[in-house]
Amino acid sequence: MDFNLNNLTSSSAPAEVQHTPVLILGSGPAGLAAALYTARANLNPVLLTGMELGGQVSLTYTVENYPGFPEGVGGTQLIELFQKQAEHFGAKVVMDTASAVDLSSRPFHVKTYGAEYTADVLIVSTGATPLHLNIPGEAALTGRGVSYCATCDGWFFKDKEVVVVGGGDSALEEALFLTRYAKFVTIVHRRDALRAGALLQKRARENPKIKFIWNTVVTEVLGQQAVQAVRLQNKVTGEVTDFPTQGIFIFIGHQPNTQLFAGQLELDGRGYIKTDVTMHTNVPGVFVAGEAGDPHYRQVITSAGMGAAAGIQATRFIEEHSV
Ligand code: NAP
Repeated sequence: MDFNLNNLTSSSAPAEVQHTPVLILGSGPAGLAAALYTARANLNPVLLTGMELGGQVSLTYTVENYPGFPEGVGGTQLIELFQKQAEHFGAKVVMDTASAVDLSSRPFHVKTYGAEYTADVLIVSTGATPLHLNIPGEAALTGRGVSYCATCDGWFFKDKEVVVVGGGDSALEEALFLTRYAKFVTIVHRRDALRAGALLQKRARENPKIKFIWNTVVTEVLGQQAVQAVRLQNKVTGEVTDFPTQGIFIFIGHQPNTQLFAGQLELDGRGYIKTDVTMHTNVPGVFVAGEAGDPHYRQVITSAGMGAAAGIQATRFIEEHSV
């Protein structure tokens, strides 16, 4: 099903249509790297930031595995450097979010809540969003003890006890971060082996403030005005217990932000945009970069690399199609 912009209703007056050779959606490492490459190709790209400038990286306290920063670099600081470099070469970064796209013909149409763009080439780098457990109490107590971002909310849990759910890199990294504030961090994992890499495992296991509860799932978040406990179920014994805690941080994976493209771009079963090695989607002239099309790596460096590749391919596409 193609989204026809003419069918969209809007309460505001029609926006003036702005044309750009390259439109980039999303301001994480992928989008900003694509902006850098297309700006250096003199294509004057326009980048719409999305709701969160910098995406998930800007919520990361320290990035330790981006080459060139042996001491690590703050997530926000790294994004600022990316943006500054892209703008230095002529990229225009606009604080706005795409609300509808029409990819049925070139130039492509993209509508935001206050503007409308046409673009010869579109680079989709809309990233991913943390998954929810979808258990009773989770939604009602989000922001009142339920969180998906330790960097954002960790400070509120100074000297308190918190639970972290998940056994991957995110869960361990965030649990380690939370030990800066919390009195105690309990990691609840549904299996008896962690998915996270060896270094993070070692750090977490050796941290005296971290303890693990294995083979266990959280089935409910309990509390009226704020989180007071989580209900746990042991998957081996079936035993159910209420575990007192003041916070629950959930890190169980991500969902790509690709709903806007359903019916227009080919998605896999989990919603990731399908791409070939040149970052091209099934629609000629539409490229994807970063986590919107990457269920495997989810690293700043891989996302930036995909952004660079998408930028190079977008430049070639424009040259070859003389658009
Ligand atoms: P992930 O690797 O998919 O791990 C998700 C974890 O949550 C797994 O341990 C999984 O359990 C658990 N889980 C999933 N659904 C669950 C549910 N409904 N209830 C309870 N537990 C559930 O996700 P991630 O940790 O966000 O990492 C994603 C990718 O980003 C990975 O490739 C990772 O290497 C990368 N990453 C890297 C870094 C870094 O290098 N510093 C930091 C963060 C993320 P099972 O293990 O049983 O499946």
